Amino acid sequence: MRLLLLVTPNTYRTTAFAEAAKRLDVELVYGLDLPPALAAEWNVPLALDFTTVEAATEAIIAYAAERPLDAIVAVDDSATLLAARAAAALGLPHNPPEAAEAARDKGLMRTLMSTAGVPCPVFRRFPLASDPTEVARQVDYPCVVKPLRLSGSRGVIRANNPAEFLAAFTRVKRILLGDGLPLAGTDILVEDFIPGVEVALEGLLTDGRLHTLAIFDKPDPLDGPFFEETIYVTPSRLSDEIQAAISACVASAAAAVGLRDGPTHAEVRVNEHGPWMVEIAGRSIGGLCSTILEFGAQMRLEEIILRNALRLPLPTLDRTGPAAGVMMIPIPKSGVLRKVEGLERACAVPHITGAEITIKPHTSIIGLPEGNSYLGFLFARADDPATAEAALRAAHAELRFDIRPLILLAG
Ligand code: ADP
Repeated sequence: MRLLLLVTPNTYRTTAFAEAAKRLDVELVYGLDLPPALAAEWNVPLALDFTTVEAATEAIIAYAAERPLDAIVAVDDSATLLAARAAAALGLPHNPPEAAEAARDKGLMRTLMSTAGVPCPVFRRFPLASDPTEVARQVDYPCVVKPLRLSGSRGVIRANNPAEFLAAFTRVKRILLGDGLPLAGTDILVEDFIPGVEVALEGLLTDGRLHTLAIFDKPDPLDGPFFEETIYVTPSRLSDEIQAAISACVASAAAAVGLRDGPTHAEVRVNEHGPWMVEIAGRSIGGLCSTILEFGAQMRLEEIILRNALRLPLPTLDRTGPAAGVMMIPIPKSGVLRKVEGLERACAVPHITGAEITIKPHTSIIGLPEGNSYLGFLFARADDPATAEAALRAAHAELRFDIRPLILLAG
């Protein structure tokens, strides 16, 4: 069998997918998001521009005519629409393209969820060209200002009053214009801030049915003004009843958005009224976080994704092993990362199973809300989630980051 994996050059997960493909004796073809000139230079067999979906779909169809494909998998959000379009054209199982689109567009997603009665915040869209002072008078507080199409909490800012709203709006506007989006025709979303704890749900959809693979607690409060992900721990310490309600909420969100097939990653807030959808994506968990998940017989998440896409038997979808946690190491301040010290000491902390600094030294790093990366990852395993969480905090406390100011030379 042959499977097309759509990847960007900065994914961390090609090895995990390659290992899974090897275990399954499946040929993996990489559809790499590269500019055409570079692709020719590097002799990449299937280079695709993920932003020109029509042309990239044609290229995949042409490729499949020569070397038939049995499945297409997108590793991250940038290729989910392309994967859906190409799979539809080739008659392979996948999400409907409209659902893939809605899962990447926060405005569309909110509209579909609220129409279907899925619990989610009250929201309004405003043109980026609006007068923020005027908009500040129309919204309720506290609220969250966010771009429609960014990810990793980039540009997501809480505002508690009109003065904070003005600052948040201006900041998001600068980010979007800096990304090259046009002032006319670009909208931003403003929605009620949902108080509560937050969890992430990793799921697998097969023919519209959601199977919950793992629910992660996020024990660090995410109350703003920015929303940096840090610790994820599974299994969740929430009651079985609440966890069942979270799964039901995500299943209804998937149905509302139209997602039917493949991995799904959802962010859910939980308070005294129950679960509230923040977001649902038609892809699996990002970064190196999936490495902490294991399913029967040492099966990794990537193998589950490939098996599902190829319609191979799924012997089990139950997570095995003890409690596990990962910390996405936050960026303490923007600047140039000179070095990270204390990695050995961090790794020596009991229950820590690994540490990886993914940002190269001498690279400039940008904190939220403008940036969207992490310094790296810490991993832990323990008998219970509280011990895994404590180990991650202790390991993080051993790390020292030498970050120098970035001096821009003008002219
Ligand atoms: P992204 O796709 O960039 O991660 P999200 O819409 O998922 O953007 O928001 C990022 C984070 O911001 C969420 O995980 C959550 O912590 C916080 N957040 C977003 N919207 C709300 C909201 N309406 N109420 C409370 N927190 C929110």
